[in-house]
Amino acid sequence: MVLPSCELLAPAGSLEKLKTAIHYGADAVYLGGKQFGLRAKAANFELAEIREAVLFAHARNVRVFVTVNIMAHNRDLDALPDYLTSLDAAGVDGLIISDPGIFRMVQKIVPELNIHISTQANITNSEAALFWQDMGATRVNLARELSFAEMCEVKDAVALKVEVFVHGALCISYSGRCMLSHYLTGRDANKGACAHPCRYKYRLEEEKRPGEYFPVEEDERGVYIFNSKDLCLVNRLPEMVKAGIDSIKLEGRMKGIYYAGGIVRIYRAALDFVHAQMAAGVAEIILPPEFMDEIMKLGSRGYSENFFDGSVGSADMLYTGPRVTQEYVPAAIVRKVADPVVIEVRNVIRPGDQLEYMGPGLENIVFTVDEVQSLEGNVLHQANPNMQVFLKTSADITWHEHGLIRRVQVSGAVNK
Ligand code: SF4
Repeated sequence: MVLPSCELLAPAGSLEKLKTAIHYGADAVYLGGKQFGLRAKAANFELAEIREAVLFAHARNVRVFVTVNIMAHNRDLDALPDYLTSLDAAGVDGLIISDPGIFRMVQKIVPELNIHISTQANITNSEAALFWQDMGATRVNLARELSFAEMCEVKDAVALKVEVFVHGALCISYSGRCMLSHYLTGRDANKGACAHPCRYKYRLEEEKRPGEYFPVEEDERGVYIFNSKDLCLVNRLPEMVKAGIDSIKLEGRMKGIYYAGGIVRIYRAALDFVHAQMAAGVAEIILPPEFMDEIMKLGSRGYSENFFDGSVGSADMLYTGPRVTQEYVPAAIVRKVADPVVIEVRNVIRPGDQLEYMGPGLENIVFTVDEVQSLEGNVLHQANPNMQVFLKTSADITWHEHGLIRRVQVSGAVNK
């Protein structure tokens, strides 16, 4: 009997994050070019970078999918044929699309490319998935508003691959189809430019008292009435893998490199755990608490399993603020495995600091910095952000290029 195997699909907001995600075990990555994707504020990729990304990924047996999922107007389409041809020539493994017009153009211009239907297309039932199957799509990403039972119904009805978001930010709007940002800030979420006004702090103003604001909540920080918690389905992976879900997708192209590597590392370890348990014939697979403990070390708005069990309510919202605090911050990235190791600093590092190297699996290696040196060999009393330096420690660590080093949060530290 062939056991189901599930792909781990990770966000890549930049070339650096792509390399980090691959280092920590992504099977596939998705990224956006400078146009036509839904994350205009992410660094995104020039065509030359997409070519480099594909070469880097394919050399490591990792697939690269490119988002072309804006809600396109006619004026958006003129530049599309050249772009599609360039993506095809770059060797990307598939395109992520929501607009039927773009779907049609892709089939005409680059018919050999795989087409994945984006969550923005709101696939909420089997007939919708079958529609896209009949049209020639090779994969559907289901709407985030589906319960697990509904996901299974769709999976059982179709032959194409089924992908599900399992972790990351949620929109209070239906599958991200939202005009709030456009109306309040002029930035269109459906063109990838969302200003996230659902996370803003709102207050009440009486019309005859301009400038006098009334807090809606007693804590005087205003009210975060639209601020949904983040999605986290790590504990539901056994059910999803057993049901044959083909790909689990992580959100977060706009997030920092610490998140990009950290979240991939956890889901890689979780998927490996589930696959191994299934291969061993374990009937009831339960993830040990270490997985959730690690997730809590990454910043979040609190976690929700969203519609997985059927419905959502006020417990799935975070009304008290835009974000919960983050216990850990990134300290550095390993740039060159040498003796001593070369790191690129993200937050200030000084001799005597206690840091943690995020190794493979869920291995965390705590170590003390004995010394930092400039690349010219000068001993430094501190290494500042963006500097590349030699790091000396007496700890026995097997470093890996693109590995991350973090520290317990200190006041004033910045998440990059
Ligand atoms: S404003 Fe909020 S709900 Fe609307 S698209 Fe942006 S993130 Fe989603």
